[in-house]
Amino acid sequence: MKPVSVNENRLWQSLMDMARYGATPKGGVCRLACSDEDRQARDQFIRWCREAGCSVSIDRMGNIFARRPGRNNALPPVMAGSHIDSQPSGGKFDGIYGVMAGLEVIRTLNDLELVTTAPIEVAAWTNEEGSRFAPCMIGSGVFTGLFSLEEGYACADVNGITLGAELNRIGYIGDRPESGFPVGSYFEAHIEQGPLLEDENITIGVLTGALGQRWFDVTLTGRESHAGPTPMHLRKDALLGAARMVAEVNRIGLAHLPHACSTVGFLRVHPNSRNVIPGTVDFSVDFRHAEVSQLDAMEQELRTVLADTAFELGLEYQVTPTADFAPVHFSEICIDAIRRSAQTLGYTQRDIISGAGHDAMYLNRIAPTGMIFVPCENGISHNEQENARPADLAAGCNVLLRVMLERANG
Ligand SMILES: [Zn+2]
Repeated sequence: MKPVSVNENRLWQSLMDMARYGATPKGGVCRLACSDEDRQARDQFIRWCREAGCSVSIDRMGNIFARRPGRNNALPPVMAGSHIDSQPSGGKFDGIYGVMAGLEVIRTLNDLELVTTAPIEVAAWTNEEGSRFAPCMIGSGVFTGLFSLEEGYACADVNGITLGAELNRIGYIGDRPESGFPVGSYFEAHIEQGPLLEDENITIGVLTGALGQRWFDVTLTGRESHAGPTPMHLRKDALLGAARMVAEVNRIGLAHLPHACSTVGFLRVHPNSRNVIPGTVDFSVDFRHAEVSQLDAMEQELRTVLADTAFELGLEYQVTPTADFAPVHFSEICIDAIRRSAQTLGYTQRDIISGAGHDAMYLNRIAPTGMIFVPCENGISHNEQENARPADLAAGCNVLLRVMLERANG
């Protein structure tokens, strides 16, 4: 395969053009799913795809597919994709980079007049962020059969407006069946949204999979009483129990490294008054790990420590599981293709396991899937300050081009 390369300036310019839709004063974007800004960016994406000679289709869930024909169009397409929607105070790269990188692959193939064996497709998935409509990744979730169209449409924002109604309002309920179609391979290029690549001065992150997640809501109940007259030895202090548990959750994460994360991110104290011993505390636990057996062990430790702590302090407790996502392992074929491409192109690389969710995790259920990470400044994302270097974005896109060519011609 002769070395081919994408147009760095064109990729950067398309990202900057897209950043106008929902631009915020602080230099980020607010492009909530199915908002007017999302519609404008979708319209722009489709205009560019048509200019690049693609046929564009939209499914009933509002997912957009731009197709560049191959020599044998009976073959399932080799697909790149990500999302156009953003967080309320999001950045210029999260999601849209993967979509623009796919478009840049097609534009580059056009420049080189290269025809692939299998068709190439670029997908933009509806409502990846889950910020306006929960849950996240609902567009790719419906495409891969995890959710029904009805479940997708029924997702409502804080004002009770449904995703289905908003998709209809912005004119993005297409006629292609929502139930998906065969995909030859799926690749997603994305900014890392974490600090590893930048910290180690590495250009390409090769995703081997994603951490499994297990979430719990915990309630500790003691006894509210006056902070003065109640002596120390006769207290049932729910916040003291929660404080010990915050430290224990942290210790459990550290005890299961590597690939473990453990977080208490939410805490609610009742009655939250300076001269009342806290009677009830609710808090969240978020465990992540690459292995199910380790998640099992972390959960078991949580339950043991919680029981011991409650017993010691005279508290009641309740623990409720709220989410359970299995770890994801991407396709060895795709991982290997990404590694070899980065090596051939002379980019530094390392393996990464994603701690966050991406559409690729759902696509992985129906097609060989791989993901390519590029560094972002200070590892910051879901933030208007989000930034990335044009050369790094082009490097990720060059890897994407190469793996898509390999899979589409293989
Ligand atoms: Zn994203």
